[in-house]
Amino acid sequence: MATDKDFTSTYKPSWCPGCGNFSIYPATKKALAELGLDPHQVAMTFGIGCSSNGANFFKAYNFHSIHGRSLPVAVGIKLANHDLTVIAGSGDGDGFGEGVSHFIHTARGNLDITYLVHDNRLYSLTKGQISPTSMKGMKTKSTPFGSRNQTFNPLATALVSGATFVAQSFSGDIKQMTELIKKAIKHKGFAFINILQICTTFNKINTFEWYKERIYKLEESGHDTGSMGNAISVAMNDADKIPTGLLYQAERETFADQLPQIAETPLVKQPVDNIDVSKSFDTYR
Ligand code: SF4
Repeated sequence: MATDKDFTSTYKPSWCPGCGNFSIYPATKKALAELGLDPHQVAMTFGIGCSSNGANFFKAYNFHSIHGRSLPVAVGIKLANHDLTVIAGSGDGDGFGEGVSHFIHTARGNLDITYLVHDNRLYSLTKGQISPTSMKGMKTKSTPFGSRNQTFNPLATALVSGATFVAQSFSGDIKQMTELIKKAIKHKGFAFINILQICTTFNKINTFEWYKERIYKLEESGHDTGSMGNAISVAMNDADKIPTGLLYQAERETFADQLPQIAETPLVKQPVDNIDVSKSFDTYR
């Protein structure tokens, strides 16, 4: 059986010291190993950003796509080969800026993939401009007088768009993240986890201490994960009361389940570890 080391590539992560990605990365690998998966059973897709550089650091079938496009690539992979565990990764700029329409429509379709957004509330790869989840009034190099936009609410957006698994975690809590990622992968349908991630280099407001003062755990508050009304109410909490844990989980037919020709006839029929990449794609149809 694989261990988390089996999901580690030969490239050393290049994130800044103290970056929250250093916690999300081992939590994801641990979750995959504890579910008994092997690297050849997992496909991971990424957009562009600090977190998406993870495409180099995980050992699995990885696809480093363009800005905001980790989800459509993940959807294509899952529809072509239903046996793969497919995980899409994005940052908040990538996923809620350039990729926001894919977020909404993948949730509507209830595609059977897991979506992990590393939400550090900035475009950090390009040196710290505001992103959709930056707090209103936040001053950066691109907003010297403060952001004028309302802060984007990823949890509420996922809920009203039809996601059947909606959760939030914090890069300072590896244990909770690991358990939520395992649950998300096991969930049949679109599973979204917004991971509040520390950016030590550019985000001097939403720091580890800032989150620690505001975060509470839903599992300790008697939250009913089957109630959409409760989930919406929690998602709309004020900025000083930040929920982590599972907000909502429901059963609904997936996109592929509704199309027998897709559900029963995946494009890729052979086990992926037997693919000879020197042959053309048509060989495997
Ligand atoms: Fe992490 Fe921020 Fe450095 Fe990017 S800039 S690697 S998000 S600490």
